[in-house]
Amino acid sequence: MQNNENKLMKTKYEYDNQEYIVMNKCPHCNLEIHPVVENMYYFENNMYKVKVISLSCPSCKRDYFVLNDLREEITGNDKFIISVPRYGFRENVIVKNTSRKFQNLYMQSINNELVGHYDIAFFGFIKSLEILVKDIAILEHKESEDVILFSNLNTCLEQFHSTNMHLFSKKLLEVLKNDYLYFHKTEDLQTSTELIKDCIEYFLVYLELLLKTFKLNNHENREIN
Ligand SMILES: [Zn+2]
Repeated sequence: MQNNENKLMKTKYEYDNQEYIVMNKCPHCNLEIHPVVENMYYFENNMYKVKVISLSCPSCKRDYFVLNDLREEITGNDKFIISVPRYGFRENVIVKNTSRKFQNLYMQSINNELVGHYDIAFFGFIKSLEILVKDIAILEHKESEDVILFSNLNTCLEQFHSTNMHLFSKKLLEVLKNDYLYFHKTEDLQTSTELIKDCIEYFLVYLELLLKTFKLNNHENREIN
């Protein structure tokens, strides 16, 4: 559903003949950037070799650190340890529309995935989706708030988002139907996680359009009255 280049990803970054792994987006402003290196620090003991690069965002001009594990046996994206600060999206226009509960869990899930906590991220994204889907359902069906709150994700989707559900892949629906079973039997959790993330992106855009429609209608009403 979503264009790959818009996604938050780890990416290679060359500096001073050394390859680093950084995020493709600024942790402060969420924009896709090619950061500028301000400084580099090296820490080493008998067991670990850690390099810290201080980066500056050309867009918002704020600085951040990215830590990389430079032991020889660590390869590819595993070199990425953490960014300081952690990835945030408080300034992301689409996410701003959502509830604080959704924002917190979604951001924690994203940061867990960045540092390699894939199992927690998988469940975190599913629960983030559930909060988002229910927030939207309550917005559209205020009278059914109790039913929505007590339903599970799948029932909520079937009852209140049946038209959207036709757009989802069979695999995504399988994952959402029984996340435990899926987690238990699947070897490839990453593909499922990507599907869930795409679904969250879809509902974020859907929410934005919905709010715009509400605004237009209110405006019309005001005009008529
Ligand atoms: Zn920035």
